[in-house]
Order: sequence, then structure tokens, then C-alpha cells
Amino acid sequence: MTGKPVRKYDVLVIGGGNAGLCAALSAAKHSGKVLLIESAHKNERGGNTKYTRDIRYAHNPDAYSAGSYSDEEFVEDVVRVTHNKTNQGLLKKVIAESWNIPAWLEDHDVIIHKALKGTLHLGRTNLFMLGGGKAMINSYYDAAEKEGVEIRYETRCSKLELDGKRVFAAEIHGRDGKETIEVGSVVVASGGFEANLDWLGEYWGDAAKNFIVRGSRQNTGDMLRMLVGFGARTVGDLSQFHSVAVDARSPKYDGGIVTRIDSIPFGITVNKSGKRFYDEGEDLWPKRYAIWGRLIAEQPDQEAYSIIDSKARDLFLPTVFEPEVGESITELAAKLGLNPDTLSETVREYNNSASGNCTFDPGSLDDCKTSSLEIPKSHWARAIDTPPYYGYPFRPGITFTYFGVMVNEMGQVISNNGTPFGNLFAAGEIMSGNILSEGYLAGFGLTIGTVFGVTAGREAAAYAGK
Ligand SMILES: Cc1cc2nc3c(=O)[nH]c(=O)nc-3n(C[C@H](O)[C@H](O)[C@H](O)COP(=O)(O)OP(=O)(O)OC[C@H]3O[C@@H](n4cnc5c(N)ncnc54)[C@H](O)[C@@H]3O)c2cc1C
Repeated sequence: MTGKPVRKYDVLVIGGGNAGLCAALSAAKHSGKVLLIESAHKNERGGNTKYTRDIRYAHNPDAYSAGSYSDEEFVEDVVRVTHNKTNQGLLKKVIAESWNIPAWLEDHDVIIHKALKGTLHLGRTNLFMLGGGKAMINSYYDAAEKEGVEIRYETRCSKLELDGKRVFAAEIHGRDGKETIEVGSVVVASGGFEANLDWLGEYWGDAAKNFIVRGSRQNTGDMLRMLVGFGARTVGDLSQFHSVAVDARSPKYDGGIVTRIDSIPFGITVNKSGKRFYDEGEDLWPKRYAIWGRLIAEQPDQEAYSIIDSKARDLFLPTVFEPEVGESITELAAKLGLNPDTLSETVREYNNSASGNCTFDPGSLDDCKTSSLEIPKSHWARAIDTPPYYGYPFRPGITFTYFGVMVNEMGQVISNNGTPFGNLFAAGEIMSGNILSEGYLAGFGLTIGTVFGVTAGREAAAYAGK
């Protein structure tokens, strides 16, 4: 061990987002001394959780949602989006325990409000926190302090010391310097590695430099690397991430939910050569928005541009940044930095093919499709012919990564030889790839983190008490 341990904790929780707070609260109910370390400053605490709005949960008709959501339907939804690449045992556990989520939230003074109309069609399956994830995380921090959890901000873990499969000490770095502490057990809840563009670059090359990180700059994956380094078995694929189209003018980190742009189904999207590259009307937007970040990541210089006309201006959520505007397509192209001739030709070709005999309906799959294009548009294909014309510059906005560590039903981290590390647990994004290794269901990240946070905290406390 490096240095002499000066303090002793039953449970050390690493990371102060949803999973870490659920673990700390759960551990504190079952054990003596709990320390939570969070790498961010207090004012920036809460990781990606602070940008969230809603949680998916199984339920009968209740006061929070617009109808019931059965275990069976929940399982089917996950199996569909992941193409069955999910650990069925862990999935069933998460769904079975998601029934407890409203009571858990209310026990910790999180206020739930009934879904408003127009919330990505999630009003039946998900519940919404009043004030979003920021308010939820503030309530959790207050509750943790009341439960006696010691919280240290601007503190990272730089080393875990192991004796075989058991962690016995941790080296942490904080405002007061380096300290080695003795620990009964450890819960790692440090999120994914989406803010680590160098690591993403190992698969994506230089393209990763052009990604915009929608969430916290703190989620660099250093704990994930550490766990992999001492033999944790991994799940998921390094190349996979959840990523959407965001405005290219967004901040590099921490833009949150508002930088996303949902105009794609109602116009055309072109790359920097002024050419279309994918079917903008393939399916309803809630089922397709999460593929567009990756599609843009595959374009030259990771740039794309949404082109709409005035008929489409009010069909999607209002945007934070104003679009570029032109009275003609050539004027708009010049403002966006695109070749005016190429963009005009792309729009002309699209318009000629889009004038089908159908009734445009933005709320359903309306079959208004193009007739003769190599890359079709399957729905909502209306001519772009009514000035003024509008354009938004896009970049890939990465939400979170799927690669993580394998866990069992208690949240214990599994080693390469298939046996668990006795007192080392993981919860949240760092292990969600066990259940979601590709695809996404809105609101499911918090479900996994809540269920596994509560489990890992309880089991970590039990282990420490042995
Ligand atoms: C814009 C946006 C909107 C989203 N909306 C939703 C939604 O509505 N519903 C939903 O279910 N999911 C949503 N998600 C996904 C959701 O944010 C995650 O699934 C969830 O918050 C993950 O929780 P977590 O506790 O694992 O990670 P985080 O909340 O990211 O917490 C990880 C914490 O660990 C800390 N940390 C990192 N490394 C270290 C270290 N070495 N030492 C100490 N601390 C460390 C970080 O500072 C951070 O506070 C959204 C994500 C984004 C980016």
C-alpha cells in the first residue's frame, strides 16, 4: 500500500451522478461511514444526470403517466432496440425493480410532474421530474448529507489497491492533496468515457476531434480504464455511442438537451459537398433521432446542413441558435459556406421527385415519399419551394458511450476469468452496456442507474459489514 491509511470508510462511492447518489443513499441506510467523491466542482456536480428530464418505468395506471406500461412491453421494447443484444437476467431485474422508482424518488423529495403533451411521445412510459435531472440531483445531495454521507468535490480516485479480488484501499486526489483511505467496499459510478475525445479517436481517428460532447466534460473514463486495467471483463463495443445532430455552434461540452435540432424529417440534410446522404424520412423522429449523430460523424469533416423552407419552420422544437436565412437557395448556400450551384442542383432534384400525390402529415408516417432518388426520402417529402429558406449547420453530438464493465445481479464487477471482485461494484453508465449494448430507449439510462445504484450501494454496505 502506498502511504499509511489515515481514514477508514465502509463504502467509497466514486462519481456523483444519478447512479452514485442512489448507491450512496442506499449504502448509508445499511452501513456506517460512506464517502462519495465527485470530480466536478460543487456547482457543476451531477454529471450527465443534471441534463436529464425523464425516467422509464414499468407501472399500472398511476398519477404520473398517461397509462400503464407492462413488464412484457418493456422487455419487448428493449429487445427490439438492442436487436436482442442484452443480458436477459439483468434486464428483467431492472424492469422488475423499476416499479419502485416513483416511491424511491418521493422518499428523497424529488417532485414528479405529469407528462406534458408533445414530450417525444413518452407520456405513457416515462415519468418526468419537476425541474429535470438538476432538481433531482440536488434533492439527492440534500438527502445524502442528511443521511451522513461525506461528500468531497473536485476529488478523483487515482488508484485502487487490491489484494487478490478484494479492494482494500483507495488513493484519492482532492483539493487538500493526495490521501490513501482504507475501504470496506467500492462502488464505481463514474459514467461513460464520452468526454474523452482521444479515447474515441482510437476508433474514429481525427473525426473524434469534431464531436461535440452534449454532457459533462468530467466523464473521461479514467475509472473504466482502471477497472479494465486490472482485469475487469468488458461489455459493449468501443465504436458504439448514442449521438444526435446538434447545432455546430454549440459549446464543445455541457450544451445539454437544448442544442439538439429536430428539423431533419421536414427538409433535406446534406453534407459539405451539398449532397444528401441518408433517408431523412425513414421513420418517426423519436425512433430515428439517435442515429443522426453517427451518420454525421461519417461525413467529411463531420459536417452536415439541414435545409428547410418556411412551410417547415414551426414543425419542430424551437432552436437555441437562429438558423441562417436566404430568400433563395443560392443565397442560403453562400451563408452556410456551401457551393450554391451544388446545393441548388440537390434541391432541384429533390423537389422534382417529391411532388407526389399524398397528404402531408407531420404526426404520422404519411407515405409522402420521393419517387426516383438514389437516396429516397420515405415520408414527409414535400418540395422545398417556399421562401425564405432556412439552414442549420450540424455536428455529431455525443450523449454517452456503451462500452463498460460486466456486472452480476448484485452489481459486482466480473473479472476476466468469470468470477466477481468481492467488494468492487459498478452502477450507471459504466455498466449499462450489459443491458443496452446498442440502440436506446428514452429514459432508460436513469432506470438502469437507479436500480443498479440502489442494489450496488446495499450490497457494498453488506459486504463492508461482514
Ligand atoms: C443531454 C443529455 C440528456 C439526457 N437525457 C436523459 C433523460 O431524460 N433520461 C435518461 O434516462 N437519460 C438521459 N440521458 C442519459 C443519462 O444522462 C445517463 O444515462 C445517466 O445520467 C448516467 O448516470 P451516471 O450516474 O452513470 O453518470 P453521470 O450522471 O454522468 O455521473 C458520473 C459522475 O462521475 C463523475 N466522475 C467521472 N469520473 C470521475 C472520477 N474519476 N472520480 C470521481 N468522479 C468522477 C462525474 O463528474 C459525474 O458527476 C441524457 C444524457 C445527456 C447528455
